[in-house]
Amino acid sequence: GVPKVKHDYQSDVARLRKIVINSLYSHKEIFIRELVSNANDALEKLRLTALTDKEAWNGDPLNITIKALKNEDGKGGRITITDTGIGMSPAELTANLGTLAKSGTSEFLAKAEGQDGKATGNLIGAFGLGFYSSFLVADRVTVASIPPKSAKVPEPAQHVFSSSADDASFEVFPDPRGNTLGRGTEITLYLKEDETEYLDTDKIRDLINKHSSFSSSFPVYLFTQRPEEVPDDDTVEEPATTSTPEADEDEAVVEEVSEESEKKEPPPPKMKTVVVDEWVQLNAQPPIWTRDPKNITDEEYTLFYNAFFKDFTKPLAWHHFSGDSESGVAFKAILYLPGKISEEYWQQPLASKTNDIKLMVKRTFITSDLGEHGMPKWASWVKVVIDADDLPLNVSRETLQSNRFIKQLKGIILKRLIQLFTKIAEEDPAKFREIEGVYGSIFKLGAVEDLKHRDKLASIVRFTTTQRNETSLDQYLENKKKGQKQIFYLAEMGKKPEDLAQSVFVEKLHARGYEVLLLTEPLDEIFVGNLRQWKNVPFQDVAKAGLKFGDEDQDPEEEKEEQKRMAEKFKPLIDWLKVEAKDAVRDVVISNRLVKSPCAIVAEHGGYTANVQKMMAASNA
Ligand code: ADP
Ligand code: MG
Repeated sequence: GVPKVKHDYQSDVARLRKIVINSLYSHKEIFIRELVSNANDALEKLRLTALTDKEAWNGDPLNITIKALKNEDGKGGRITITDTGIGMSPAELTANLGTLAKSGTSEFLAKAEGQDGKATGNLIGAFGLGFYSSFLVADRVTVASIPPKSAKVPEPAQHVFSSSADDASFEVFPDPRGNTLGRGTEITLYLKEDETEYLDTDKIRDLINKHSSFSSSFPVYLFTQRPEEVPDDDTVEEPATTSTPEADEDEAVVEEVSEESEKKEPPPPKMKTVVVDEWVQLNAQPPIWTRDPKNITDEEYTLFYNAFFKDFTKPLAWHHFSGDSESGVAFKAILYLPGKISEEYWQQPLASKTNDIKLMVKRTFITSDLGEHGMPKWASWVKVVIDADDLPLNVSRETLQSNRFIKQLKGIILKRLIQLFTKIAEEDPAKFREIEGVYGSIFKLGAVEDLKHRDKLASIVRFTTTQRNETSLDQYLENKKKGQKQIFYLAEMGKKPEDLAQSVFVEKLHARGYEVLLLTEPLDEIFVGNLRQWKNVPFQDVAKAGLKFGDEDQDPEEEKEEQKRMAEKFKPLIDWLKVEAKDAVRDVVISNRLVKSPCAIVAEHGGYTANVQKMMAASNA
């Protein structure tokens, strides 16, 4: 017999398999998406490896083939998914399929356990489950694989990973068939008895169209057997056993023509039915970004997003555009706003590396690592596929970094991103409100961080004010009172705008008809602190000294007189307060800013507000 090495699954693999097997009845079909996605990854890896290791690939076809076969006894059957990609050594079979290397998977596990099947199903949608989703439909899975010849592996040998749904272990052993693949991986799913619907090639075709047709840059072929009527005449040639869809169309045309002239011809010969084997390419239509946006539905954009970026939430908006003169390189691109921004995003001070700018050249994936030319923090969440026509295909990382187009990419993407935001802000207020819910703080961060795009981003920031739920800075200025020379705001982190509106600082301004921005987010104060002014009108914190009403100049003499009178009248009170409160405040003065409240505590001009003092104290801790 063949020597077999038996391994126990890591305990979390066992847990994951159990969840998958037991609770995902409504999401079984995703196994195809996951396996095609892995095959696609493996082909991409091979192509990238071959850039530096010529021996790894001699230019033979890179593709994915799917075959469904009924068992000889008529009961059940199996599906094989084969790729000509990077393959796996026995050690890699053990490490990649027998352990959970993915960081996201443990998060998934933590959330999934203890939930019912339906909730877990939604989680799977959000995380993707990879290889283990095979066990949704199969009770046994074997993976035969062989890596390419390389300096590291001069004599590769095909090995098999084998595992059953109810096993706590798996085996890895040399393939008794020898090297049948040449290079790559063949996954065989021995379908459970009640999952034989997946043997139906129409069903497989539908699933691939739904989940994977846009995402694989390599051809995916499905093996089909099609009954065909042929003349029952030994002198007539048998039809070819393999044909392409194009050839079929030609045949159909020929038939139609012969029908027209049929009346004059002798009666057709006797027919018989034969079964024709065919490899049908499933993803024959061009990739979505190369198509005319007019002919693409929202659902197609969403499904492409899900499959391509492996994010199974619904994107909030997208922008499909092609290269313009500024870059000198013709390209097509789709830019997506993800449906949400992860919690971690706000916890990391600097842009974390993302893999979400996918650079293609003539439909072939090149890299998602733009190195120093990647996105700034404020836009590091954006997901983009960009396909350039005339970049060199065989570029190394280093030459890529110095490529002119790569250097321009960030600018091109940021410009389009801001265009998308601005367009929605102007044309679709309801949609913009939805986007603001997710990206409102991003606009502020961008305005603070990115001087080049500051004005455009600050233009789309919306504030709640004493008069309106939503005001842009431009709208605020339009609503300015005669003589008003400052943009008034009150900032208190974590409060509600309604509470701020009650503040003693705000009441006099409001009573006199001035609009006051009510700032309640941590980034707000940093935003106004960095901008300092908008269209030459300075921001003024109404809780700080320096506040000027536009109308006080109207009668300066009378105002001075009034102040003098007040100072005399209240001198005893002020003197007494100065002594009584000397440990708490620096000074006590008479104010003209209050209407109903008798007194207020204000920060010194140029000093920090209580709010910022709190933040500074926290960050020093
Ligand atoms: P992920 O694709 O997110 O890494 P999977 O569970 O889908 O997680 O796959 C686990 C690992 O197994 C992959 O990262 C890859 O290393 C390996 N693998 C899976 N399928 C293939 C394949 N067809 N060819 C080569 N390696 C594969
Ligand atoms: Mg995967």
